[in-house]
Amino acid sequence: MHRRFLEVRHRDRKSLRDGYSPAVRRFEIASIVVYCGVMAWAVWRLAPLAPRFPWLMASGFMLGFVLADFVSGVVHWLADTWGSPDVPVIGQALIRPFREHHVDQKEITRHDFIETNGNNCFISIAPAACGALVALDDAAGIFWATAIFSVTLWILFTNQFHKWSHMDAPPRWVVLLQRLNLVLPPDHHTVHHTAPYAKYYCITVGWLNEPLYRLRFFQTLEWLVTALTGLMPREDDIGARAAREVLEEAPPAAVPPEPRVAAEPEI
Ligand SMILES: [Zn+2]
Ligand SMILES: [Zn+2]
Repeated sequence: MHRRFLEVRHRDRKSLRDGYSPAVRRFEIASIVVYCGVMAWAVWRLAPLAPRFPWLMASGFMLGFVLADFVSGVVHWLADTWGSPDVPVIGQALIRPFREHHVDQKEITRHDFIETNGNNCFISIAPAACGALVALDDAAGIFWATAIFSVTLWILFTNQFHKWSHMDAPPRWVVLLQRLNLVLPPDHHTVHHTAPYAKYYCITVGWLNEPLYRLRFFQTLEWLVTALTGLMPREDDIGARAAREVLEEAPPAAVPPEPRVAAEPEI
């Protein structure tokens, strides 16, 4: 199905950038410190077991990589689709960066380590702590503790992989990883940056984007949330009119290849 014209109305780029306040910065630094402490604790518990259970732990680690791709998609979908940057605390710290990213997708390439990774450290702290509390006295415990450690580790790297996918000239070894499909490839991620930003949310490696799209996973969740609450998905991000059009539209059967362009940013 071809849409004739979709009138996307983003928030103002400057006001989104100004939302990155010193308080948000302190929140990010605190998140990184706590996250590093919890992960160091997990490594201290798991590392001595690796020589005895190499395959068990390797499979848990691999599962964690795929789960991280899924979690990145769910968190990204939540932040793109619901709420607004005006929501106290979460709005400024978690929702605003995603809205800013649709208005200016190159801004992420100018973020330093703290701004790139603070958010993901924050959302990983609680799961990482749960993983570090799993008892390691049987195979299931070791497997799941490793898988949870791996999810929270790859979630940390997700914004870095995402940032690389927007860089004009990433390091050569990064380009190789992107071509091997081991980190998020730029052309693949371009599909998400095509208005109305309603598909391909997974940004760790992107392996789950096509299956979740074909299953209409996020679209089904949106219909459910709208049916239960009356909320309009993406209303704050692209404007009420465009959001209503997208909600009423059935998705095509397959994702066509898209050119590497983004929506026109507002000044
Ligand atoms: Zn997005
Ligand atoms: Zn992006």
